[in-house]
Amino acid sequence: MSEEARRIARATLPEGLRPETLAVRTALPPSQHCENSEGLFLTSAYVQPDAATSAQRFADSEDFTYSRTSNPTVRSLEARLAAMEGTEGAIATATGMSAILLLCMGLLKAGDHVLCSRSVFGTTINLFAKEFGKFGVETTFVSQTELAEWRAALRPNTRLLFAETPTNPLTEVCDIRALADIAHGAGALLVVDNTYSTPALQQPTRFGADLVMHSATKYMDGQGRVMGGALCGPNRLIKDVFGPVMRTAGMVLSPFNAWVILKGLETLSLRMKAQSEQALAVARWLEARPEVARVYCPALPSHPQHELAMRQQSGQGGAVLSFELKADTPEAARAAAFHVINSTRVLSIATNLGDTKSIITHPATTSHGRLSEAQRQAAGISQGLIRLAVGLEHVDDITDDLNRGLSTLNSL
Ligand SMILES: *Cc1c(COP(=O)(O)O)cnc(C)c1O
Repeated sequence: MSEEARRIARATLPEGLRPETLAVRTALPPSQHCENSEGLFLTSAYVQPDAATSAQRFADSEDFTYSRTSNPTVRSLEARLAAMEGTEGAIATATGMSAILLLCMGLLKAGDHVLCSRSVFGTTINLFAKEFGKFGVETTFVSQTELAEWRAALRPNTRLLFAETPTNPLTEVCDIRALADIAHGAGALLVVDNTYSTPALQQPTRFGADLVMHSATKYMDGQGRVMGGALCGPNRLIKDVFGPVMRTAGMVLSPFNAWVILKGLETLSLRMKAQSEQALAVARWLEARPEVARVYCPALPSHPQHELAMRQQSGQGGAVLSFELKADTPEAARAAAFHVINSTRVLSIATNLGDTKSIITHPATTSHGRLSEAQRQAAGISQGLIRLAVGLEHVDDITDDLNRGLSTLNSL
């Protein structure tokens, strides 16, 4: 670092800064050009001044040698993420799924057992059950909210407990502290997928989780542009376990995507708060509609884990909600849901979330479309269920858009 760069903002931050400040300021020190916005280092290799320095840098992985090992933009993102989650370290990955891949490659071997909530993201279930099953790692799926099921399913070889809270699309909330106690009592680690709440609302390690996993594709980027993921936790795992696996397995985040996500984090707490408040307003509006049978949103007092959610999520429900339309048969429910979705003229019909653009989804035929009808029923995903990931449009334009279909359902 140049002498001038050493003296300017963020080169060394004072202690005790608040999360919003850390989200804007934490990064590697600036280069000799003293750029204010963090630099984007699109380079695969780093030139070494001489062979002896090169040898020393290859021996000490803290220095930059090759971007599968480390990249300054990616390292800035990792520093900012760790600061926001309140963990010692973080390691960025190409996608959310590759963060779980890195987790399992780092911590598991044939003969190990995993306990996982039945309500986690569908691809996560496939990765544990199908892909890791092939390598002799067995996974048991249990209820998101029944702690007795988690305790009863523990085995002497259980290494990991994996949960996501709130879940998609039914917004079930699990008690992180209680799951951490169960994991630690059995000598296992608790990993929490914090994609939905983000550290702006929920820091799972404060409640005893050992590792936090993210799909940065969602709220961290926040504008639907790039894919990314991360694991956050203590350095004995991040640096000593996952770092070496990453160097050999190579599911690294591209520097460009890291830079986009780094910029997204600067507005994360504003967006999470605004989008959560909009989601609650839409949820209240839906709850008052005669066409709607039930609304799932942790911020509503009618939510079964409302108090727990408010305690864990800084008093916010998050920006994803679901609602179920009244109907007599599954066929009528599906027709009603398709009518409400097809009547929108502003919302995006897509299967993603965490965007400033509100997104409307029919889970039974998209994210949960490959399940049998019986599996879908067991998961509580009815044909009349609609998921809404609330963005930043004016809230009245969102409810007006939903009203186009709701108010014309009797014409079906
Ligand atoms: C999207 C998502 C993932 C997977 O992340 P990708 O970035 O799409 O690989 C994992 N968990 C949750 C909760 C998600 O929403």
